[in-house]
Amino acid sequence: MGDPIIAIIGRPNVGKSRLFNRLLGQRKAIVEDIPGITRDRNYGQCEFLGCSLKVVDTGGLDLRPEGKLLSGVMAQTRHALEESDLLLFLMDGREGLTPADQEIVQLLRKSTTPVFYVVNKIDGLRDEARLYDFHRLGMETLYPISAEHGMGVAELLEAAVRSLPSAEEALSKNPETCPRIAVVGRPNVGKSTLVNTLLGEQRLLTSSEPGTTRDAIDTMVEYRKQKYLFIDTAGLRRRGRVERGVEQFSFSRTLESLERCDLALLLLDGSEGIVDQDTKIAGQILRRGRGCILLVNKWDLLTRKPEAQARVRASLLRHFVFVSHAPALFCSALSQKAVPGIYQLIQKVMEATRRRITTGQLNKFLQDVMQKKAIPSFRGRPVRIYYFTQVKTRPPLFVAFTNKPRGIPPAYRRYLENQLRRTFGFDGVSIQIRFRQKR
Ligand code: GDP
Ligand code: GDP
Repeated sequence: MGDPIIAIIGRPNVGKSRLFNRLLGQRKAIVEDIPGITRDRNYGQCEFLGCSLKVVDTGGLDLRPEGKLLSGVMAQTRHALEESDLLLFLMDGREGLTPADQEIVQLLRKSTTPVFYVVNKIDGLRDEARLYDFHRLGMETLYPISAEHGMGVAELLEAAVRSLPSAEEALSKNPETCPRIAVVGRPNVGKSTLVNTLLGEQRLLTSSEPGTTRDAIDTMVEYRKQKYLFIDTAGLRRRGRVERGVEQFSFSRTLESLERCDLALLLLDGSEGIVDQDTKIAGQILRRGRGCILLVNKWDLLTRKPEAQARVRASLLRHFVFVSHAPALFCSALSQKAVPGIYQLIQKVMEATRRRITTGQLNKFLQDVMQKKAIPSFRGRPVRIYYFTQVKTRPPLFVAFTNKPRGIPPAYRRYLENQLRRTFGFDGVSIQIRFRQKR
């Protein structure tokens, strides 16, 4: 089998060529024959996350004069459906949904080829409201992008590649898609011990990241056929052997690691309880929208002390209300027994950071929660939410289209978030919900 073929389709001027060039990194299309694909299209080879792909820009198709424009696009679409493994259907966010788009969508719906519905020219947050129009299509998931500026393009491509059956194995081995993990916590909580336990005695692949102060060295490990990248670990690994307390706790180094990670393991010292510095680090994880797992370490010291355990649990709840979504594991970094549980949580949180809930599911969800608890009226006027959609992942961002964005009280926002978590999970990741004016 050859490389999977991804075709970009859509009406003229929606930005197909712009996206094509972006995917190919401005390289000129390679002129070679792919069986079954006619010469009147641009196609090129690109490598994404370790997967080799062929991308077709159907914009090269000759379009008939004005009147026949739509039939040309329809023919192009039919071709693409037959020849490709996956389609990216581009629409124009500036122009809004057109009857021609709707007609093409009807054709696409009948096909078994996976289609990603993309709204282009969403150049910034201000443009998000333009998406609303496209929800009339009742599409499960829309991908807002800016082919011009690159926003959303990597996420779209990653979602597309993930849906290709042939890509699965390549992705689990790829350093760019494997979970990037920062191990953080105040001095002496057991970071070095944990890193040594997690990384074991394996021969490690290490790579240094240029541009970071003190040249952070990351460590890649494989556990049960999945790769994991532990960020800035060389220092931690070495520390086990040097005299303790020599190295100062460096907050800036912690921040640097957080900047580069997908998720953080925040270590707490169960034998000492929770202190301000712990919550300060948690706040930084949250601010960056990174996944968060709380590891209450040195639990072995509390094995026969149920009152002490209860105290720590209570203090955990009290101090970490603002990250109550983070799963907590009580463990001992000295013991190998902790290892499977930690990797399991990492997988779970990674999955949550990538999770995408379809618009269909979300609108059903919205009906349910609004029925259980109505939105209070605002200045005597009813407040309505018409549509609810997830516009991105990592971290998940939801947009609710309403008649009164300022009419949604904070308590109702929290209620929505809690219900979202209860219904769809999202353990360990922070969720953002924005309210936008329906136009
Ligand atoms: P195609 O006919 O579908 O291949 O469309 P093109 O790629 O030629 O783009 C049509 C026009 O839309 C050009 O003027 C592009 O500069 C513009 N365009 C493409 N992508 C974007 C985008 O993300 N934002 C904005 N604002 N304009 C875009
Ligand atoms: P770091 O400064 O966060 O890297 O902490 P270290 O890994 O150097 O650990 C500090 C001290 O705590 C060392 O004496 C470790 O042996 C001890 N320690 C770490 N994890 C555990 C644990 O799970 N149980 C117990 N009892 N001691 C631990």
